[in-house]
Amino acid sequence: MKTLLHIQGLTKEYGNEKAVNNITFSLNKNTATALIGPNGAGKTTTLSMLAGLLKQTNGTIEMDGEITGDFRKVIGFLPQYPQFYSWLTALEFTEMAARLSGVDTKIAKLESEKTLEFVGLENAKKKKIGTFSGGMKQRLGLAQAIVHKPALLLLDEPVSALDPIGRREIMNLLKELQATTTILYSTHILNDAEEMTDQLLFLRNGQLVEQGSLKEVREKYANPVYKMYFSTSDEAAKFVGNSPWSARQEGSIAFIHIEDAKPEMNEILHTLANSNLNLSKVERASASLEEIFLQVVNKG
Ligand code: ATP
Repeated sequence: MKTLLHIQGLTKEYGNEKAVNNITFSLNKNTATALIGPNGAGKTTTLSMLAGLLKQTNGTIEMDGEITGDFRKVIGFLPQYPQFYSWLTALEFTEMAARLSGVDTKIAKLESEKTLEFVGLENAKKKKIGTFSGGMKQRLGLAQAIVHKPALLLLDEPVSALDPIGRREIMNLLKELQATTTILYSTHILNDAEEMTDQLLFLRNGQLVEQGSLKEVREKYANPVYKMYFSTSDEAAKFVGNSPWSARQEGSIAFIHIEDAKPEMNEILHTLANSNLNLSKVERASASLEEIFLQVVNKG
């Protein structure tokens, strides 16, 4: 597979704070990569440097073998909070974005119409953006990011603010784009990442703490757990508080993480027999994707 983007030692400092700290990764052509991390991890800062909106303090960004240059023609960017001119129509706005990204004036209108049709805004193309719903604005944001057919599409939390229907629509469009475009998008919801990803990059405190395919990450972190169902959350809390094993609580359920086949079920039951806690059910389950995320971002 050919590499489209390679970043090496990318760093952004604000005073003494490192918002992004010496990160290195590559994106292969026509793949989708999810940049995952909690609030403040450095996702927006990373994407803004790649989009050319922020200058890095250190490190290099190499697009298709070139280290410097104006990548605006080959990169499309959908910011987390896109801004629009509410008095323009969707078509006028998309045409303006096309021209700013180097599309020839003669074909900018045609390309904008095609793109608005692709994102499902053909019937609203002559309407003023001020009248648009949140979902329509997000589709327009995507249109302005892809109208010039960029080789690399950067998306900052593209579906976080959408309702389930809007989210589904945008995810389906992105999956269609994936065949011909390299996509890097940020999210803090691992279920979104699971849907469309060839590679996962985990950021924490500005550092890249884990990377790999979904399969690789799953194999590494998806340790099984025992789910212990108690009658009340107080009981679950008491059990977790006294547990000698790695355990956590969610409502009336206690989770015990199983590492190297330890602890065994009979050890747990033995401990329980000496307590006054009412256990109604025990089950062995795999760690969910959300749990993997928590493990990665909380580790060491
Ligand atoms: P979120 O999920 O909340 O959008 P994020 O992963 O995108 O978070 P960033 O917005 O990249 O995180 O921020 C990373 C860190 O850099 C944060 O600690 C933030 O406070 C800091 N930071 C970002 N921009 C600036 C700035 N202009 N000046 C100072 N610090 C900043």
